[in-house]
Amino acid sequence: MSFFKNTLIQIAEAAKIMNLNKDVEKALSSPKRTLEVSIPVRRDDGKLEVFTGFRVQHNDSAGPYKGGIRFHPQVNMDEVKALATLMTLKCAVVNIPLGGAKGGIAIDPGKYSKSELERLTRKYVELIEPIIGPDVDVPAPDVNTDAQIMSWVADEYSKLRKKNVWGVVTGKPVSFGGSQGRADATSQGGAYILDQLIRKIGMDPKQTRVAIQGFGNAGSNLATILGEDGYNVVAVSDSKGGLYCPQGLNPVAAAECKIKKGSIGECGEVGYEAKEGDKCKKVTNEELLEVPCDVLVLAALENQITNENADKIQAKIIMELANGPITPEADTILEKKGIIVIPDILANAGGVTVSYFEMVQNNQNYYWPQEEVEKKLKDIMVEAWKNVSATREKYSCGYRHAALITGLKKVEEIMLLRGIA
Ligand code: NAD
Repeated sequence: MSFFKNTLIQIAEAAKIMNLNKDVEKALSSPKRTLEVSIPVRRDDGKLEVFTGFRVQHNDSAGPYKGGIRFHPQVNMDEVKALATLMTLKCAVVNIPLGGAKGGIAIDPGKYSKSELERLTRKYVELIEPIIGPDVDVPAPDVNTDAQIMSWVADEYSKLRKKNVWGVVTGKPVSFGGSQGRADATSQGGAYILDQLIRKIGMDPKQTRVAIQGFGNAGSNLATILGEDGYNVVAVSDSKGGLYCPQGLNPVAAAECKIKKGSIGECGEVGYEAKEGDKCKKVTNEELLEVPCDVLVLAALENQITNENADKIQAKIIMELANGPITPEADTILEKKGIIVIPDILANAGGVTVSYFEMVQNNQNYYWPQEEVEKKLKDIMVEAWKNVSATREKYSCGYRHAALITGLKKVEEIMLLRGIA
């Protein structure tokens, strides 16, 4: 199953509804630049290993390329192209002046020491250095990469350019040019969007059961935020398994337990008083997707809901914090079942929005307090929600197509103003 082909199918569907300019559609159907690199790394035991890395720059009509770096064994060119394409449209949906890119290295980082990962990151930066930079292409964290890895990116690039160029990457620690609020920006942005939808359809957060697939940066921060907002988080999972507690679980205790035990599936009853006969249950990743709940949040990887399991989903709403977790065929099945899908390019756009704030702060060399970041993020997410909702009404379509149309319209306008060929 090609993630990139699926992404192009979704774009083509939206393009048809809105009557997108044909030249724009053609130009957007392949990235402007793809780079594949071989990264030799000396292991701690002296042996040499060579990894494959990628950087894909999809479109920079609206501003410098922007997109995360993923470390995962499944990383390949097809995936990175799809993720870069989604970034172009995501930045357009939240109306920030950035283009779309993505990078990654095919590696299982859990099997390597911190010093090996540092050497890998620095070598990768050396190899992609000619095509990145604060005004050109600015990476950020994604699956299995974090503020420490972003610090190595900023430091290595600065060494190569022989000056401090912190703005080459976002998602840095606050002490090293990062922005307040970046760590949980993706989840906070998703929470703002979910809140808008819940209010619109007259649901009460306190009566809303949420299941979350993926308990990393995006998923675990969202669980905490939704718990604080009064939602009832009933199930969470990571790559090794999950936990379903029909009466609800404590997201903070779950996060602490995951750190202690290595997987959420090993956590038993996390911090709620189980009623007699009501026990938390260990579930597989497949089972988590099908538990009784009102909102299912996908916060792991792509291609999780396909034509094989779409029919079994019990949730009323699915929110895509992950990129590309639902295939186009599954989308059609979910729509027939009346399930509302909040798409990735709207739901998880809070991350790139605060990354944009980080770029602005790096440029100014002046840093904003947490409250200012929170307010600006909320304003942008609510505005994006309103625009996508208005587009949905105008074209009588679902949120996926409405978000894609919103993004495509902005990119189309700029591409036609600038000229395509
Ligand atoms: P992460 O590495 O912090 O966490 C990923 C989580 O998913 C881990 O808990 C992992 O165990 C789990 N996982 C992997 N495969 C799974 C499976 N089959 N079933 C259940 N869980 C599984 O990564 P992240 O940054 O949280 O990213 C998650 C998703 O959110 C990705 O699609 C990413 O592109 C997207 N996203 C992240 C950001 C960000 O700022 N971090 C921004 C936008 C989108």
